[in-house]
Amino acid sequence: MNFEFTEDQQKMREKVREFAQREFTPELAAKFDMEEKYPEELRKKSFEEKIIDYSDPWKVLIAIEELCRADAGLGISATVPYFGEEIISLFGSDYLKEKYLAAVNDGKAIMGLAVTEPGGGSDVAGIKTFATKKDGKYIVNGGKMFITNGTIANFFVSLIRTSNEEKRHHGLSVLVIESSFPGFKSTKLRGKLGVRATDTAELQFNNMEVPEANLVGEEGKGFYYVMTFFNISRIFVAGQGIGIAQGAYDRALRIIKSRGAAYSNNEEIQFALADMATHIEAARLITYKAASFLFNFKPDPMETSMAKKYAAETAVYVAEKALEITGIEGISSDLERFYRDAKILEIWEGTSEVEKLIIARSILKGGEN
Ligand SMILES: Cc1cc2nc3c(=O)[nH]c(=O)nc-3n(C[C@H](O)[C@H](O)[C@H](O)COP(=O)(O)OP(=O)(O)OC[C@H]3O[C@@H](n4cnc5c(N)ncnc54)[C@H](O)[C@@H]3O)c2cc1C
Repeated sequence: MNFEFTEDQQKMREKVREFAQREFTPELAAKFDMEEKYPEELRKKSFEEKIIDYSDPWKVLIAIEELCRADAGLGISATVPYFGEEIISLFGSDYLKEKYLAAVNDGKAIMGLAVTEPGGGSDVAGIKTFATKKDGKYIVNGGKMFITNGTIANFFVSLIRTSNEEKRHHGLSVLVIESSFPGFKSTKLRGKLGVRATDTAELQFNNMEVPEANLVGEEGKGFYYVMTFFNISRIFVAGQGIGIAQGAYDRALRIIKSRGAAYSNNEEIQFALADMATHIEAARLITYKAASFLFNFKPDPMETSMAKKYAAETAVYVAEKALEITGIEGISSDLERFYRDAKILEIWEGTSEVEKLIIARSILKGGEN
């Protein structure tokens, strides 16, 4: 067991930290949050400075942590142009990789993952958006809800029903949908609680024609592809959680120290700091453990769900404690944004209840320790 990062990975952490401190100014973070605007210039800068280095997944995790530590809205916006990429890289044809992924990897395109529908996100097998095949094309009707990058992405990998099988999840397939396809419409959703710099939209598909070549992998395997993806992406959501928690903790500690010994000697303040620091350490360790399984090509869905759930809850817990111990000073600083930004982590890519179901089923299926 080794708890050390390599020198190269450490350097990456320093590089991303320096980038975030330089670019994520308090004014910029407040502006994009207030205006609910996607920071396109920042995305370009982070691409040019190679802030996300896909050659090493640990570096991606480190970068997400550091960016979210500075600001989750801006940090997630800078890392999310690739959202869903693994579905094409693991299961897509060479044609799809060349046509779509190359542009994303060159920083020329943005992509998204469209799974959730207006009727509910947790019941993935219940997807209703339907595609029928006609003359070598899929004709798609339906819609998706709460889709990140919804108004800015060039294309989406989308989970769509292609047949009505008795086992509902056997009838789902993944199609690559371009935002330029006739019949595609997206509408920006405003008024989110947190991560307001990220772009969220409703998508509508009205008799939209999708070439057959845009099918990812095989028909009927879409559910499996998306679940495989979630077992990867949940590790990175856990990274967002560690980052938000660490950022809230840093800010609270700064305020406490600035108030002098009389304040920091208060036992309640000390207990709160100890609890916050312990939660962050535990979230980091469980995330790194789950990540080490995944990055060594032995993903463990139970560990991954534990990491995602615990790190998300830690972000919410630490951000709340940070406000409690800093009072008016905290609530009128950017800590209030950390508090708002944390909540989404308990919802997207599997709510905490869904993670608990995965953990419990895994426990019940397994043997004794
Ligand atoms: C800002 C934002 C960005 C998003 N980005 C994307 C995106 O890019 N792509 C995408 O596809 N989706 C995206 N989503 C959707 C997100 O993944 C869903 O919100 C999430 O899956 C939960 O679905 P729901 O909100 O419909 O809640 P529901 O599924 O309706 O759940 C409501 C409540 O019931 C609980 N619940 C549901 N089923 C069960 C069960 N079987 N057992 C116990 N409890 C249960 C849930 O835990 C939750 O507490 C985004 C959402 C937001 C808010």
